[in-house]
Amino acid sequence: MSDPCSGDGLLAEDEQAAIAVRIQAIRQTLPNTVRLIAVSKTHSAAHVRAAYAAGIRDFGENRVQEAIEKQAQLQDLADVTWHLLGPLQSNKARKAVDHFDWIHSLDSLALAERLDRIAAEQQRSPQICLQVKLRHDPSKSGWSRDELFSQLPQLSKYKELRISGVMTIAPLGLETVETLRLFEEARDLAEQVHAEAKRQRWSNMLMNQLSMGMSEDYLLAVKAGSTLVRLGRTIFGSRG
Ligand SMILES: *Cc1c(COP(=O)(O)O)cnc(C)c1O
Repeated sequence: MSDPCSGDGLLAEDEQAAIAVRIQAIRQTLPNTVRLIAVSKTHSAAHVRAAYAAGIRDFGENRVQEAIEKQAQLQDLADVTWHLLGPLQSNKARKAVDHFDWIHSLDSLALAERLDRIAAEQQRSPQICLQVKLRHDPSKSGWSRDELFSQLPQLSKYKELRISGVMTIAPLGLETVETLRLFEEARDLAEQVHAEAKRQRWSNMLMNQLSMGMSEDYLLAVKAGSTLVRLGRTIFGSRG
């Protein structure tokens, strides 16, 4: 008998069914244009398998090492797209490029330069979101609007990066209207960067993706135009 908590193996049937039901319910609230990323951090490879069986192909992780260990148990799932959502230390950049298809948490020029160099060496270019922070939030990192605009010309030089969009995390405790406004500001910011990149012919900046919305606020994010929602607890339950 395999232990459902020990990583590999399968979950109990009722737990698998519960995950499938939650995913179905969430899908009904999402337009077809929105990609659903199941955030599997702290959950086992068996949880990833259950969500995969229910149709999920995008998985999000916060920590590079945890993801690598899980991926090693899931090598038979060939068509999974892995998203790195959490802060990335520069000494993990190479592993991040090797093990993720998307990096949502690019938050500095120094990291951008490093990822660009590694991507060239590895011949592997993850899609990138620029993490922005539009409200005071000491627990999160990210560019402010002004910092981002002033650093765009430098970002445009990192030709190996496929800068696909903007990512943001709403601070805890905002009112509904404030959260919606925050997401709308992130959308407007992405549109302005997109326009600037087009004007300047910066070919590494497509900027047509918006990574925003978590379990508590994803419907507001979708209302504001999110294209990538990142849901953990509403799919897998609480992280204990
Ligand atoms: C954990 C996490 C999520 C998922 O959060 P839930 O509240 O479980 O939906 C999404 N994005 C990031 C960056 C996270 O760290």
